[in-house]
Amino acid sequence: MAIVGMGLPDRYAVIGHPVAHSLSPLVHSCFAEQLDQIVRYTRIDATPEAFAATARDFFRDRGHGLNVTLPHKAAALELSDTISDRARLAGAVNTLTRNADGSIAGDNTDGVGLVRDLTANLGLELNGRRILLLGAGGAARGILAPLLAEKPAHLAICSRTPAKPHELARSYLKLGRVKGCTYRVLPGKRYDLIINATSASLEGKLPPLPDDLAAGAVCYDMYYCDHDTPFTRWAKEHGARSAHLGFGMLVEQAAESFYLWRGLRPQTYPVIALLRHA
Ligand code: NDP
Repeated sequence: MAIVGMGLPDRYAVIGHPVAHSLSPLVHSCFAEQLDQIVRYTRIDATPEAFAATARDFFRDRGHGLNVTLPHKAAALELSDTISDRARLAGAVNTLTRNADGSIAGDNTDGVGLVRDLTANLGLELNGRRILLLGAGGAARGILAPLLAEKPAHLAICSRTPAKPHELARSYLKLGRVKGCTYRVLPGKRYDLIINATSASLEGKLPPLPDDLAAGAVCYDMYYCDHDTPFTRWAKEHGARSAHLGFGMLVEQAAESFYLWRGLRPQTYPVIALLRHA
C-alpha cells in the first residue's frame, strides 16, 4: 500500500561546513510553531567534496528543502535543476526546494532578507542614499541587485584587492550607479549606510577604514554574534547614527525561504527579538 511516510513531518535542514553554530533550526522552529506547521528541521554538516551527494540523498529521502550556508552556495547553484533570476544574478543559491516532480529549484533569499531588515525593521529609506559596501565576496554579490533595486544615489563596493570590486561593479552597472574601490581610495567621505559584508568580524578584525567615515552613518555588520564586533564597536566609538548586527538579515532570509517552502509568511519581529536577547 502506498502510504509510506504518511503522517511524518516534512523534512528541512541547513547544510554547511561547519554548521554546528547555525541558528537556522531555532529560527525555523519558531516560524513553524507560530504558523502551526508540523516540520522537522535539522543541521547537516557536509564537506565540499560530500555536498552534492549529501544534498541529493536528502531530497531522495523525502527531504523538502535545504538552506545552504558557507561554503556551499556556489555548489548549490550547480546542483539546481532550475535557478531563480535573483539566484542567477547573485551567482549563489542559499535555498533549495524539491519540486513535486523531484527536480530541485535553487533560489537566493539573502538579498531580500537584508533589504527587508534595513527598510521594514530598521526603517531606513535607501532611495537616494549613499551606500558603502565592504567586501566583494559571495555575500556582497548576493545583496547587490536587491540593494540597487532600491535606487540608492550611489553604491561603492570596497575591498583590499582592487580587481574584485571593480569587476563586480562592472557586471552590475546595468542595474544602477555602482563603483568599485579600495580602502585607500574611497570615492566619497560621507555615506548614509555602511554595510560590512566582509568576513573580518569572523576573525575579530576590522576592515581598514578611516575613522571619520562612521560619523552620521548607519553601520550594519552582516555577521552576528552575542557581542559587539570590531566593526560595530568602531561605529559606536566614531559617531555612527546607529550600529547593527546581522540577526535581522538572518531571520528575514529564513522567512523568505519558509515562504518558498510552505507558502506562509511568518512574523519575523518576535524571532529577531528572541535571537538578540538569547
Ligand atoms: P567570503 O569569504 O566570500 O568573502 C569575504 C570577503 O571579506 C572577501 O571579499 C575579503 O575581501 C574580505 N575580507 C576578509 N578578511 C578581511 C579583513 N580582515 N579586512 C577586510 N576585508 C576582509 O565570505 P562571504 O561573503 O560569504 O561572507 C561574508 C560575511 O557575511 C560573513 O561574516 C558571513 O557570516 C556574513 N553573512 C551573513 C548572513 C546573514 O544572514 N546575516 C548571510 C550571508 C553572509 P578582500 O580580501 O578582497 O578584501
